[in-house]
Amino acid sequence: MQIVGRAKGLALVGLFTIVFLSASWTLSAALVDGIEGSATRLALASGEPPAPNTTPEVSAEAEASMPNGSPVPTSVYQPPASNSYPVSDPSPPPPAPPDVPLLPQEASIQDALRAAAFPRQPLSNERLVGNPNAGRRVALTFDDGPVPGWTEKYLAVLREKGVLATFFFVGRSAAKEGQLVKEVASAGHEIGAHSYSHRRLTLLTKPLLEKEFWAAGTALYELTQRPITYFRPPYGATNAAVLKTAQEMGQTVVLWNVDPRDWEAPNARAIVDHVLKHVRPGAIILLHEGKPATYEALPYLIDKLQAKGYEFVTISQLFGFGMPDAEESAVTQEEEPARYSRKGR
Ligand SMILES: [Zn+2]
Repeated sequence: MQIVGRAKGLALVGLFTIVFLSASWTLSAALVDGIEGSATRLALASGEPPAPNTTPEVSAEAEASMPNGSPVPTSVYQPPASNSYPVSDPSPPPPAPPDVPLLPQEASIQDALRAAAFPRQPLSNERLVGNPNAGRRVALTFDDGPVPGWTEKYLAVLREKGVLATFFFVGRSAAKEGQLVKEVASAGHEIGAHSYSHRRLTLLTKPLLEKEFWAAGTALYELTQRPITYFRPPYGATNAAVLKTAQEMGQTVVLWNVDPRDWEAPNARAIVDHVLKHVRPGAIILLHEGKPATYEALPYLIDKLQAKGYEFVTISQLFGFGMPDAEESAVTQEEEPARYSRKGR
């Protein structure tokens, strides 16, 4: 009697287990399908990969995409094998020749991306802080963008004044605000990288350092379809490891020699006054995005410098890189020892 009771009990447990397992398999397959679908869409929208090792909560969208009453999720549906090939040609297609891989390997994709997004070699192994041979030309540079609500405003001023500048974008912000990056690029301004996450690079290990260059450069390349040539380290912080990595990644490090500290300036006038006092031929002027005082100062700054005979150019134009007379100009710079240097910045 006891044995029969136990057997009945076991049979019931077994039955429940089968019912429970099949029900939970169907539900989890549907959930995973929904979550993966929405995660892919999110990644495509923001340009950022979905975070690994996290269990996403079921979104309303994922829940809505779950089949109602239909126990078979679409992802496990297999079409009948008989429809795979036309009846008149039942043999499978011939295999590809062995030297042509069916799918490109991940390494070769990385190589191709690296070749497209990064120059083979830097334009200069020095940290560029200004070009005294540039005559009455100066470069306006804007760090820390894109900043929605501000980048558009800065662009409008530059457009109105007919002036080109160089924007050093933070890769992470660029990936989120891709449209702004595209607008800056299509307006003819130059774009450089300002690392991916704006960390102080001198504190990072070599692999993290490389990641900062790689992620920023590829994010910007994907948006602009231009190789990323210039790199401005956050806080201007460099050491031997940062400079070596920049060289390996084909990046030319660009610093500055006029810094009005616009991010802490009490007002627009303080910014304009500082720049007018310290400007010199071939200067690189450091400014930041998203700052009301900087935005307010910008039209005055442009007018006053133009009144002093200065012309605004991009970093490439300031150094003659990529211009018809680039080689000649580069030689002149090599021979000229009086280049501004700014040690420790
Ligand atoms: Zn910065």
